[in-house]
Amino acid sequence: MLSTPPRWDLSNIYSGLDASELKADMQWITDEGESINVYYQKELAPLTSTAEPEVLAGHLDKLVERLNQIYLKAGTIGAYLHGCVATDSYDAEAMRMNSRFGIIMVQVQNVSTKLEAWLGKISKALPQALAIDGIAKAHSFFLKEAAEQSQYLMSEAEEMLAGELSLSGARAWSQLQGTVTSQKTAEIDLDGEVKTLPMPAIINLHGHSDEDVRRRAYEIEMQAWETIKEPLAAAMNGIKGTVNTLNSHRGRKDALHSALDMARIDRQTLDAMMGAMQDSFPMFRKYFRAKAKRFGQEQLPWWNLFAPAGKAGKTYTFSEATNLILKNFAVFSPELKDFAQGAFENNWIDAEQRSGKRGGAFCMSVPGVKGSRILCNFDGSLDQVMTMAHELGHGFHNYCMFQAGKTELQRSTPMTMAETASIMCETIVFDAIVSQVKDPQEELAILETALISDSQVIVDIYSRFLFEKEVFERREKSDLSADELCEIMENAQKATFGDGVDERYLHKFMWTWKPHYYRYGLSFYNFPYAFGLLFGAGLYAIYKERGDAFIPEYKQLLASTGEGTAADLAKRFGIDIRERKFWEESLKVVEGRIDRYIEL
Ligand SMILES: [Zn+2]
Repeated sequence: MLSTPPRWDLSNIYSGLDASELKADMQWITDEGESINVYYQKELAPLTSTAEPEVLAGHLDKLVERLNQIYLKAGTIGAYLHGCVATDSYDAEAMRMNSRFGIIMVQVQNVSTKLEAWLGKISKALPQALAIDGIAKAHSFFLKEAAEQSQYLMSEAEEMLAGELSLSGARAWSQLQGTVTSQKTAEIDLDGEVKTLPMPAIINLHGHSDEDVRRRAYEIEMQAWETIKEPLAAAMNGIKGTVNTLNSHRGRKDALHSALDMARIDRQTLDAMMGAMQDSFPMFRKYFRAKAKRFGQEQLPWWNLFAPAGKAGKTYTFSEATNLILKNFAVFSPELKDFAQGAFENNWIDAEQRSGKRGGAFCMSVPGVKGSRILCNFDGSLDQVMTMAHELGHGFHNYCMFQAGKTELQRSTPMTMAETASIMCETIVFDAIVSQVKDPQEELAILETALISDSQVIVDIYSRFLFEKEVFERREKSDLSADELCEIMENAQKATFGDGVDERYLHKFMWTWKPHYYRYGLSFYNFPYAFGLLFGAGLYAIYKERGDAFIPEYKQLLASTGEGTAADLAKRFGIDIRERKFWEESLKVVEGRIDRYIEL
């Protein structure tokens, strides 16, 4: 095993940016996109729901096959180029090709919007056509969902115009938010030296070990946002206003409507989950107050929310990290361990930190070679070990789908189900580490890391949901001033963090820098995080109960996350996500952590 963090190997995907296969594949997608468009105009568009089921089924088979092919190649090229850009932002050729590929894919997207509308037009005839054996039948979920969702499309001309206008409208507002917040800097005195830092670096100081630094960083941050709140409020109004307008023209009930459809859950499920989350607030407030006590405070000021605790944990070499992961994966399932070992041995992981490489972590599937690649920035911390376990979970999820022979259209998983395997893998490793630690100060540090993240995903996420809901509602009547946005945010924080935090020191500017509020194609990009965490935790509890018997069913679930609503998939496990009880059980995992934290 390697002792230093490795770089990944992309050479079995394409031999290089100048590979003739890559050029040929990009050309093929362009041609195939045009060819499908011609096929649609000539053969599909004239067909209506009165067409013979056999004729329709024949066309649907052909269409599904062609779409799978084009998405397979596109997914492979996309992963390769994204992999190049993400590990070396100085690579101008990779950037250029990636941007060209983006333009090609807009054309493919346009064709697929037309196809979706057509599926809606023939939806009455779909059940009969899909009863006939063939590839289309195996893709019933995808086809029916597309037909169903097409009722929320405007006319073809309106959709095309909306798409084009978004470049100078909502998308431009969102770009403005990105530019303004990423170029803003602030000065802070660190170790006797005045430093000018970009805002993400100032925000990162919220995890600094010295309270004085954290408090000053908080104050400086609040002053900085004050100076640019107006353009950011304008961006928020522009985006939320556009979404409201489009939703009403598309016949959507409200902004939440499309977010729920994209997440493949219904309102009843959301209500059950949110209800259980709300019931857990007193428990989290107990944790916040216990944490405040360690600083001699009654309630937490915002700057102590992310404060680390206990002894700075042990650091891991890369080989220690891989051994720890493999050992504990093996306890869960030898197959998971073998998968992870293969990922390490075949250089699927880019873990080295270096200039030009992007921060954070992700796992991408590479459908053309039925594999995955994982990017992370390994620094030896426990946090990074957990991140690697998390991303390997995504890789295992892909593996289960490839192994079951799922096609591109069958693999398309909503965000609610996408975190199932990753949370599971993270929990396996976390549990093992906690059970082995002997020094209480070290245990405290580990628990604190976990609880900071849990409270973000449950309590803070709920506040973001409340904020966004009210903004959408009030934006229907008028523009909102920056101060009004601040007021809505503070009220959302009071309603969720409650008496766990000090009301004098909340964070009214959270709306300025979280990019999720400024996404135009995807609203309420918050509750799926909570769903992912709690669904994964709930499954883990079932595993603890059932042991090895759980594994085959679990693998089957992972293989089919692209082919059902979340409720139907969960039902296979006897889980009813429309009932509050399931979510309450999941939250008990967090309760156990809080109880132990208070004991220490
Ligand atoms: Zn993830």
